[in-house]
Amino acid sequence: MDKIPYKIYLRESEIPSKWYNLRADMKNKPAPLMHPGTHQAMTKEDLMPVFCEELVDQELNVTDRFIDIPTEIQNFYKMYRPSPIVRAYCLEEKLGTPAKIYYKFEGNNTSGSHKLNSAIAQAYYAKKQGLKGVTTETGAGQWGTALSMACSYFGLDCKVYMVKVSYEQKPFRREVMKTYGSTVIPSPSNTTNIGRKILEEFPGTGGSLGCAISEAVEVATSTPGYRYVLGSVLNQVLLHQSVIGLEAKAALDKYNIVPDTIIGCAGGGSNLGGLIAPFMGQKLRGEQDYKIIAVEPASCPSFTRGKYAYDFCDTGMVCPLCKMYTLGSNFMPSPNHAGGLRYHGMNPALSQLYADGLIDAVAVEQTDVFKAAEYFARVEGILPAPESSHAIKVAIDEALKCKETGEEKTILFGLTGTGYFDLVGYEKFHNGQLEDYIPTDEDLAKSLSKLPKVE
Ligand SMILES: *Cc1c(COP(=O)(O)O)cnc(C)c1O
Repeated sequence: MDKIPYKIYLRESEIPSKWYNLRADMKNKPAPLMHPGTHQAMTKEDLMPVFCEELVDQELNVTDRFIDIPTEIQNFYKMYRPSPIVRAYCLEEKLGTPAKIYYKFEGNNTSGSHKLNSAIAQAYYAKKQGLKGVTTETGAGQWGTALSMACSYFGLDCKVYMVKVSYEQKPFRREVMKTYGSTVIPSPSNTTNIGRKILEEFPGTGGSLGCAISEAVEVATSTPGYRYVLGSVLNQVLLHQSVIGLEAKAALDKYNIVPDTIIGCAGGGSNLGGLIAPFMGQKLRGEQDYKIIAVEPASCPSFTRGKYAYDFCDTGMVCPLCKMYTLGSNFMPSPNHAGGLRYHGMNPALSQLYADGLIDAVAVEQTDVFKAAEYFARVEGILPAPESSHAIKVAIDEALKCKETGEEKTILFGLTGTGYFDLVGYEKFHNGQLEDYIPTDEDLAKSLSKLPKVE
């Protein structure tokens, strides 16, 4: 057979026309979202005031294996997809490993990450419903940027509540959002009741993701023609992100490449869930086995040290309860430059798969992650996002294990984004100023003790 190329290209016509809904193949379905007051499973009617109608249908759909990607979304995908799948020949050689390493790079669009894959879908359904606009929150800014691009494409208004410290310290993403026409509001703000309350109690606070969510939800539910959208955690987001895995599998299939190990970083779980989707489908149907590794920061270890329980999705405790691996909704991870991985919980479908022993998880420390990031940048040329570098770190570790054992394993990992907007993190790494506070058992016991009591 021909030598496998550095990049395996897909034709435009090979971009998936359907998303794959992993839940259809799960024997043990993820637990339903639960009403925080009544503790009953959330119905479509309960969710409609907050979320767009078709997205609610997708959230509740655990039976349809495939869901058509509307033409309008397919057309947008064509502008920046298929994303490249790269054989990391240079990395393999540098490591001296017999392992074969592939990565799927999602950072080649202006928003700089995979989040655009779901943002465009969510904006499309909002537009189709005849809404005026959407609200959301953003921490480091990747999601806000992706959503701004998507809303601008469909002519929707977009209000982004950005955690105040990020708003002040990260002007670049903020200005990209404004370039695409979004209103970016530092949170807490005086535009909402909850924001005014928090400002009164804690004047001068830098804000938090939980507070920004509460503000965004308040505005969405109190403004006619608006809904709230979310960039990770929910099952609908995993569904949209399945485009990553479907493309990766289609490319590898061209050369009959079957990965042994698939690795992804895990914040709320959307890129990992999307990357593994078709492979996990095979695994669930008993057609093929894969080792799947979720990589999380040691400072926010939801899978490896969390509890599988119903919890609030947000610190403001306004969103539905979700059964997931969680550190407690009031858990405050230490400042970490992988902003996209600082979430207390994990997607419900991935949580069930982990509980069933179908996924492994490891936690890695920030300094090791930046070492791997810099190594990768020098060898493979791409400057990776700190979040993505969690997967790089573990891919390198796995390849080095193969060097010891002589096994020629095939490793696939998700490279979710570029690091151009994360240079403050790189600067701290270079100056030896990175800290990595790993929560103690007492810290975790404290936040877990506040889990809602659910029968
Ligand atoms: C948001 C983000 C992540 C983590 O989110 P998931 O939902 O777990 O995929 C990872 N990498 C990048 C670059 C991100 O922006």
